[in-house]
Amino acid sequence: MSEEWNTRTKLVHSGVKRSQWGEVSEAIFMTQGFVYDTAEQAEARFIKSEPDEFIYARYGNPTVAMFEERMAAIEGCEDGFATASGMAAVNGALMSFLKAGDHVVASRALFGSCLYILDEILPRFGIDVTLVDGTDLSAWKSAIRDDTVLVFFETMSNPALEVVDIQAVSEMAHAVGALVVADNVFATPTYSKAVEQGVDIVVYSATKHIDGQGRALGGIILGPQDLIRGKVEAYMKHTGGSMSPFTAWIMLKGLETMDLRVRAQSATAAKLAEALVGHPKLARLIYPGHASHPQHELVMRQMGNGGTMLAMDVKGGKEAAFCVLNALKIALISNNLGDAKTIATPPAQTTHQRLPEEQKKMLGITPGLIRLSLGIEDTDDLIGDILQALDHA
Ligand SMILES: *Cc1c(COP(=O)(O)O)cnc(C)c1O
Repeated sequence: MSEEWNTRTKLVHSGVKRSQWGEVSEAIFMTQGFVYDTAEQAEARFIKSEPDEFIYARYGNPTVAMFEERMAAIEGCEDGFATASGMAAVNGALMSFLKAGDHVVASRALFGSCLYILDEILPRFGIDVTLVDGTDLSAWKSAIRDDTVLVFFETMSNPALEVVDIQAVSEMAHAVGALVVADNVFATPTYSKAVEQGVDIVVYSATKHIDGQGRALGGIILGPQDLIRGKVEAYMKHTGGSMSPFTAWIMLKGLETMDLRVRAQSATAAKLAEALVGHPKLARLIYPGHASHPQHELVMRQMGNGGTMLAMDVKGGKEAAFCVLNALKIALISNNLGDAKTIATPPAQTTHQRLPEEQKKMLGITPGLIRLSLGIEDTDDLIGDILQALDHA
């Protein structure tokens, strides 16, 4: 029955485990442990626990399981393992499947912490990582070797909003038997068809659109049951990156309204892009949903929408961009994204500050770049706010 539901229905009802009290809102099972009726039952559960049989919250918990089942249902995956943060999910998805001597190919346009894992941590353990321009299919083709075991990319990159052709890269990876792991945060579960398009393991930071209200860190690793309950669960439950029941409850409540929020946010982003195109204060406007984006056709084919994020490069560099940021009256200067509140971020000076100048340049992270995560405020109010702030550049 629930398999046939459309996304909106699944977001509200999938995965519910109602207790004997018949509560409407999902219960928070704030417990780390579980009691066994008999010693025999304890022994049996440690040999093999069935779904809905719990041992210890680091392994699983009813509230966390509700979140995992709901996410798996909307993403079209068999199973999921919820994590303490998005980075615990990215790290877990990579470490679960890799060992010394393995070769990995990844796009180089990544969230700062993702890049740190691929560029700094994995090589320390003898893993050979090749970074490529994720938009260039010939670069993927020459980097993927017969012995490549895993391919990693952000389906839409942070902050320059470059789009990876999921289907084409997945086909190349699968041709050599490599596993495809995708960080799908910017695509959002609303617009994702990642599994259909070839991704094996989908990773989300739930901190972003899934919570969507700036409250908690969380993440999830989604994929086929044998991989999630095999290597991923084994790695996560023994290394301590599991999600807390309270966080899972926040995320379940977030999911109920996620689709409504994301569609409102992306509609605003599209309208704002229209209002900003050709603006005299901008050197560049980046919105994948606008015809001016170099990968507009790909993003519409892949996601059917340009998403909730927009970036603009203000003429006059850092000084001008800071004038714009400081003049904002509604949009907040911060670094989260996918929030109900509109957030403006200068990546070159904050989230991507650590990167060498050369690399910033290559990734399009210019000193005047402002990344905007559109919120659910009134569209006209927001457009007015951005336009008046640009007057200060
Ligand atoms: C935020 C983010 C992460 C990390 O998520 P946290 O919940 O902050 O740990 C990973 N990838 C992308 C693309 C992100 O935007």
